[in-house]
Amino acid sequence: MNATPTLIDLHTHQSAKTGVWALQNVSLYDIENFSGREDQPLSVGLHPWKVRGNEDPDRLYEQLKFAAGYQQVIAVGETGLDKSIEMPLEKQEAVFRVHVRVSEKLQKPLIIHCVRAYQEILFLRKNLGAVQPWIFHGFSGSAQLARQCIDSGCLLSFGPAILKDHNRAVHSLISLGIDEFFLETDDSGLDIAEIYERAALLKQTTVEVLRERIAERFHKIIIQE
Ligand SMILES: [Zn+2]
Repeated sequence: MNATPTLIDLHTHQSAKTGVWALQNVSLYDIENFSGREDQPLSVGLHPWKVRGNEDPDRLYEQLKFAAGYQQVIAVGETGLDKSIEMPLEKQEAVFRVHVRVSEKLQKPLIIHCVRAYQEILFLRKNLGAVQPWIFHGFSGSAQLARQCIDSGCLLSFGPAILKDHNRAVHSLISLGIDEFFLETDDSGLDIAEIYERAALLKQTTVEVLRERIAERFHKIIIQE
């Protein structure tokens, strides 16, 4: 990453566009066949939707540790808990715990997909004594929940949900300080600039300021330089 702060897209399923520094998510099962640029920063993990329920935790740990050990992998995930799918939460949790172990072992942050399971995840963070940054991506919870996550040592990233009016994500974003969030496009295919413009408008600041502040925080907290 060069000295001039580019727009940082904290979580995307696409490869980065010009002028954008994007953390591209690749599934654990696809990493071997990843054909993108060698310097493309990646996060690797097993999405809760991809959990089969019969994973052997020790085997998964070794597999994930190996994949996440690649130099271009700078974060573990996305992983998480999702109460909107049929896969029992205990099965999802077993896989999530493996990601936490790898994240702590390799000292790489964790990207979290969470649907209606925030309390469970915050409990696990405390219970497991995890110290790596945990980032709830695509956050769209209430302002109160946003504060609770931050107070528990977690980070938040907002995506396309903030483009809608009268959305909970909008209210949460407005309630936060300018140094309390990241921005992302996720699987929307949108231009990250659009998300920055909207966030700047909601925060009554400029894209320039946001870009600098987010890049600075990103370096400090995620890259851990
Ligand atoms: Zn995603």
